[in-house]
Amino acid sequence: MKSFIGYKCSLCASEYLPGQVAYTCPADGGNLDVILDYKAIRKKYQAEDITNRRVTSLWRYEPFLPVNQPKGEDTPLHIAGWTPVFKMPRLAEKLGLQHVWVKDESRNPTASFKDRASAVVVARAQELKAQVVVAASTGNAGAALAGMSAAVHQQAVIFAPKSAPPAKVAQLLVFGAKVILVDGNYDDAFDLSIKTSQEFGWYCRNTGYNPFTLEGKKTAAFEIWEWWLEAHRDWHQQDSPLNNHPTLTIFVSVGDGNIISGIHKGFKELLALGWIETLPRIIGVQAEGSAAVAQAFQANTEAIQPVDAKTIADSVSVNYPRDGVRAVRAAKETDGTYITVSDAEILQAIAELGRVGVFAEPAGAVAYAGLVKGVASGAVGSATPVLVLNTGSGLKDVRAALQAVPSAPIVEPTLEAVKKIL
Ligand SMILES: *Cc1c(COP(=O)(O)O)cnc(C)c1O
Ligand SMILES: [Zn+2]
Repeated sequence: MKSFIGYKCSLCASEYLPGQVAYTCPADGGNLDVILDYKAIRKKYQAEDITNRRVTSLWRYEPFLPVNQPKGEDTPLHIAGWTPVFKMPRLAEKLGLQHVWVKDESRNPTASFKDRASAVVVARAQELKAQVVVAASTGNAGAALAGMSAAVHQQAVIFAPKSAPPAKVAQLLVFGAKVILVDGNYDDAFDLSIKTSQEFGWYCRNTGYNPFTLEGKKTAAFEIWEWWLEAHRDWHQQDSPLNNHPTLTIFVSVGDGNIISGIHKGFKELLALGWIETLPRIIGVQAEGSAAVAQAFQANTEAIQPVDAKTIADSVSVNYPRDGVRAVRAAKETDGTYITVSDAEILQAIAELGRVGVFAEPAGAVAYAGLVKGVASGAVGSATPVLVLNTGSGLKDVRAALQAVPSAPIVEPTLEAVKKIL
């Protein structure tokens, strides 16, 4: 169908036809990359055919997706993606950088980056005529799957750890999914969801398991590419010293490693199409207490050693990252690196982003915390243009947000009392 011609294993490079496998490599369990017929796409499309499109959602990039968008229009599923990029001169000044932008993924329909993956997986489920879709999630992937499913009347079952923040559990329930809270961690929920998927024949969305999540996530790279083209145009007009195609550095928070791998794949596809000349630098940021990918990167190995994850950033709290190998490569193959940040640094980042109008959940603020640290350590030079992703909304976890800021005073309802505390 379309330009979707098969899969290639990220470990052993075995290739499979679209109908041959559904999830991971039968030979070694490696994650599969969807292969598209780039030659055919190149013949059919010029960059302008995409940049001139009127569609303002991730479906703008339908020609590069292995699925068609489901019937219907203007549902939450149809409007996912196409998130804003904010220019952040005050953050740049504070950090001593020339250019800092934040791409705000909390503006997605269910308030996290995960909508990109879930929109595409639900589209696939509909093509496969799957009765039920299922996922394990720390919260956001499930909320996204539940929300995208509700949008097109698809049945969804979500397994989440019972410790998931209440707002995320509320989203699952309100979107009408069947919610099963697991007395265990995310990794336990992951294994259980795969068992039930196999037992009942449900279509499984799990991150680092279903190859279509990456396809949804790569659309963020296409958006960054288009935005960057525009930003350049401005610079050319201003005769800026950055005229000579500066390399953009992108900061991404990493849990399972699927977002960073998706962004990497998107840019590799743009390179294959000849629409960019070089890849941006991709820097992965992990919480210190959940840093299996960063540790593998630092040890210069693709052998991911599980950790006993513990961090306030629940969305990136993962013992065994399911997309660790590709996540290591995303930094390695783009001259990037990995940075780890403490919970205190994550809370500080929530407060700093808040002061410029961006409300991030802990995992969303991880990337900015990494930028602060990367500047301090010299990993990021002052002339480097930087784009930071905020992957999720602060409303997802208000308990954490309240830890990031001083509490508000309570006063008697008199002017006197107000004067006293001002
Ligand atoms: C899932 C998630 C991440 C990490 O994505 P991975 O693909 O697991 O690396 C980061 N931030 C938020 C808010 C998320 O929900
Ligand atoms: Zn393989």
